[in-house]
Amino acid sequence: MKKLITIISFVGMTVYMTSCNQSRPVNEGTTSYQSTTDPELAEFISKIKAVDNHSHVNTINPDDKGSDALPLDVLLPFEIPTRLRPESPDWLAAYKALYGFTGSELNEQSMKELMATMEKVMKEKGEKFPEWALDQTGIEVMLANRIAMGPGLSTPRFRWVSYVDALLFPLSTKTEAAVTPDREKLFPLEDQLLKKYLSDLNVSNKLPATLDEYLERVVAGTLEAQKNNGCIAMKFEVAYLRSLDFEKVGLQSASEVYSHYINGGEPSHEKYKLLQDFLFRYIAREAGRLGMAVHIHSFPAAGNYYVAANSDPLLLEPVFNDPELRNTKFVLIHAGGTFSEHTSAMLWKPNVYADISALTRLWTPDQLAIVLRDWLSQFPEKVLFGTDAASFGPGLGWELGAWIATATGRQALTIALSGMIRSNEVSRSRANEIATMVMRTNAGNLYNLRLK
Ligand SMILES: [Zn+2]
Repeated sequence: MKKLITIISFVGMTVYMTSCNQSRPVNEGTTSYQSTTDPELAEFISKIKAVDNHSHVNTINPDDKGSDALPLDVLLPFEIPTRLRPESPDWLAAYKALYGFTGSELNEQSMKELMATMEKVMKEKGEKFPEWALDQTGIEVMLANRIAMGPGLSTPRFRWVSYVDALLFPLSTKTEAAVTPDREKLFPLEDQLLKKYLSDLNVSNKLPATLDEYLERVVAGTLEAQKNNGCIAMKFEVAYLRSLDFEKVGLQSASEVYSHYINGGEPSHEKYKLLQDFLFRYIAREAGRLGMAVHIHSFPAAGNYYVAANSDPLLLEPVFNDPELRNTKFVLIHAGGTFSEHTSAMLWKPNVYADISALTRLWTPDQLAIVLRDWLSQFPEKVLFGTDAASFGPGLGWELGAWIATATGRQALTIALSGMIRSNEVSRSRANEIATMVMRTNAGNLYNLRLK
């Protein structure tokens, strides 16, 4: 069998996979769930216009480069969970739903025809292609986690979520990068992004001499510029680079480290951590002042040397409990993944939310429903729908991931809420209400989206 090289992007990354181009049976969708669900509720949920809290949607530029600050293709090859693999029946279901694919299998000939259809649709829709894809998927508003927005991604359908990790690392990152082989490849990308932020601000490549000046000109300057350009939230994916335990550090200690190393030298991890911790809380406070939410990647993956324990939501508890940060709204992106019970504990905090992005791509509806039921029984106003839609390469665009994740999310919600109706925990009308909150209105309120 001829080898088929497929490019796969996962949780905001692009990986190259080699797989056998085998004929595959048609599967109508994701996991079957009819036996345990309430058909009326399923029908209601299928029609809710969604707000997607997290995606890496692409512009219509074929060489779109701004969709992720840390594209993880630099870490290849690494393990890929089954639902993302080319042989997963999810892809076929998405081709059928979005592009009217009618074949019974994906082989060389049908793939060729399918690619031609996809190209034709994209050409016909032009700048409207991203909006068309949202319409097919039942998504009204998609948050776009990107370095910058671009053609085809305009408000009100697409709203910008920026990246701010680069601002945590103004000093040399050599020692930080040496901790794992993955970090050696990722830190240079943050160094480049900081340079871009400096050039956007017309600040020369030489950083300010004092921390005070760095905070005002570079950090606050960047965040304000993002806000002025329509950014509604800022994202940290810093769990790829270090642990999420950000301690409370005084300005004096942080300033000493900054001034000592800003002109060169390698700070020890202990010293650099003081500055990073200070900067993280400073940025979070600024986010509250500017009315922007803070998104934090909290998921035990991906890569070959990812430190799963570093992304445990419990590590963020001192940040969430900081009285100075109570004006800041935090969203645990991917809801902690397998740390979902810890996420449940963090939802007690008045300013903490969780989204189910990526879980809607990686887990089955049944798996996700179990976790959802725990959260929805306690804090239904804190849970947000999300996809983590991202391009997986030619023929595997972000719109397919968006469709698969939306179908999974609706199924999982239906299973969880049907169970809650069955056990008399909620009425059907309350179940409808909770479903609408998760799919749509919780995000609408959090970001003041003024949904109709
Ligand atoms: Zn993502």
